[in-house]
Amino acid sequence: MDAKELLRRYIEQRRELGESELVLDSLNVEDVLRVIGAAGASRPSRAARAAQAASPTVREFDPADTRDWRTSLRDAGVNVDTPITAATPPVDVSPKPEPPAITTTDDMAFKKGIVVASDEADLIPDTILKLRSLDEIAEKVKKCRRCPLYETATNAVPGEGDPHAELVCVGEAPGAKEDETGRPFVGQAGQLLTKILAAIDMTREQVFICNVLKHRPPGNRNPQPEEVEACSPYLIRQLELIKPKVIVAFGTFAAQTLLQTKTPLGQLRGLVHRYHGIPLIVTYHPAALLRNPAWKRPTWEDVKLARRILDSAPRS
Ligand code: SF4
Repeated sequence: MDAKELLRRYIEQRRELGESELVLDSLNVEDVLRVIGAAGASRPSRAARAAQAASPTVREFDPADTRDWRTSLRDAGVNVDTPITAATPPVDVSPKPEPPAITTTDDMAFKKGIVVASDEADLIPDTILKLRSLDEIAEKVKKCRRCPLYETATNAVPGEGDPHAELVCVGEAPGAKEDETGRPFVGQAGQLLTKILAAIDMTREQVFICNVLKHRPPGNRNPQPEEVEACSPYLIRQLELIKPKVIVAFGTFAAQTLLQTKTPLGQLRGLVHRYHGIPLIVTYHPAALLRNPAWKRPTWEDVKLARRILDSAPRS
């Protein structure tokens, strides 16, 4: 099989999984299929057509499409029934059972996860505890010298959104684009976050979006424990002022930091944790979804769980 044919099959597989964007160039999936002359390239997938009819803003995040891409590959003459070797673990694309409906706080207690201590007064220095608004926190963050990260960063990224948001999205730390703009979750991962929110009928303006760290670690290296310790009081104070109904931690680092655990993300998902008394849901980081589109469906299940809490639970 020549390289062009392999590329065509790969791109078609990506399309069947709901992808319509390519990360490494400015072409989308349909453009590439047209360039390489694939049959049916101009026709959007069933999932794309259905989602586009419902809402153009969510058409590229369509986890409701449970069609098996193996069918398309079989139609193209590819043997997909031979077991895949251990070197390339199989991607489970079978429909997953719905997470249990959450209607009361008793239900949440039934499936509760890790609870983090709520005595935040011990953790927050007086100067941060006295900050009375998100704007005051943002100003403080811009002048912060509590750890060395300000020295290498271009801009502080304190967070943005509705100061009375019912849902707060927390990521790890600013990346290059965030450092450049001073805004959280911009660039490709940010665009995907916008689509994830749209899938539960929310906009960026309705939520508050921030990171554990407010300045970018150089070269996107992993945050150091002392940096997290120095910066966490800002996040705690932000959450204390916003008083959201639910927090969604995006990615392993945000989840493990907020929950003070080394438990893998896979074991933290699907549970309702508590962070300083606020229900917390764990899911994949949008940047990880760009690398592995098969995680879109579980991410959708996670944010649906957060949506159920929003729709049912009183504020803490
Ligand atoms: S990362 Fe946090 S603690 Fe470190 S300088 Fe920035 S705001 Fe301060």
